[in-house]
Amino acid sequence: MVVVMEERATEAQIEKVVASLVEAGMDVHRSTGVNRTVLGVVGAHKVDSALISVMDGVHEVLRITEPYKLASRTFKPEGTVVVIDDVRIGGDEVIVMAGPCSAETEEQVFTTAAAVKKAGAKILRGGAFKPRSSPYSFQGLGEVGLQMLRRAADAHNLKLISEVMDINQMELIAKYCDIFQVGARNMQNYTLLRELGHARKPVLLKRGISATIEEWLLSAEYILAGGNNDVILCERGIRTFETATRNTFDISAIPVVKKLSHLPIVADPSHGAGRRDMVAQLARAAVAAGADGLIIEVHNDPDHALSDGAQSMFPVQFDRLMAELRIIAPAIGRSICLEPVARRGWSR
Ligand code: PEP
Ligand code: MN
Repeated sequence: MVVVMEERATEAQIEKVVASLVEAGMDVHRSTGVNRTVLGVVGAHKVDSALISVMDGVHEVLRITEPYKLASRTFKPEGTVVVIDDVRIGGDEVIVMAGPCSAETEEQVFTTAAAVKKAGAKILRGGAFKPRSSPYSFQGLGEVGLQMLRRAADAHNLKLISEVMDINQMELIAKYCDIFQVGARNMQNYTLLRELGHARKPVLLKRGISATIEEWLLSAEYILAGGNNDVILCERGIRTFETATRNTFDISAIPVVKKLSHLPIVADPSHGAGRRDMVAQLARAAVAAGADGLIIEVHNDPDHALSDGAQSMFPVQFDRLMAELRIIAPAIGRSICLEPVARRGWSR
């Protein structure tokens, strides 16, 4: 249920409504918009909406028909902007996160960070704890990897995102990173999601390999219900009958999520395509479809990468893609990397 307060509702009236809902055993999430305050009411109890609707200062009481409440646009009509210092995800600017699939060596991380920064990325990506399909594949460098990534991010004035797979890694990852990444395989790890609801850092929640958009938004709801409002959704492709690409990148998820939810959505064309010769096409399409950002795998030497080499772009390819996105973004009223970037070395 959503309680929409009148534009002129006083603080005392709002507090009275909140108090009576809390008394009825409900959790109340307050969203203070430009014009009105909206109260998202969740919980297992039943409240008589007729009684609430006649309270002073209440404009209307709406039933949210979707199973997710706090993630829905009915609760919060204006889009959420996740702010990390000067980086705003969900605003006019399309934010690009880029870097290797996994941190491997100091040289790899630093060279790649320098390249993505030069091309206009704002956030460095890189895994230190890797959810690999095979237990025999490279599992990541753990804290050593996080240290390398943080140093490289700081050296190039980039924010840092890295994957958290388990509750017991949260404290360590929080020490080094600006955004927690929840991978596709953990989208339904509800214990982890609940704990991230109490974290003080933004969470990028990837769509599960076979999750519907509704299931994905319900997973976001776990984090929001814990009080962490900074959730970024990430479409990374889903499993279908098609085998030509690693996953089927669901481009329609972008406008669908924009309609259903206020949360920002970014696209991961690397895992969507699974091959580097198709990443740029999907990235361009995602920006044109309204994605708030991209997360892209780039490696200084992808042919020797310890994970996801086939889908990792060479820095020169990434650089060219960024130049193309600078043409596409303004066509749909967005910007991308406003600062002038260093001269690029590619040619047509
Ligand atoms: C990754 O970002 O490297 C990763 C493991 O992604 P996903 O969870 O989408 O498979
Ligand atoms: Mn990867």
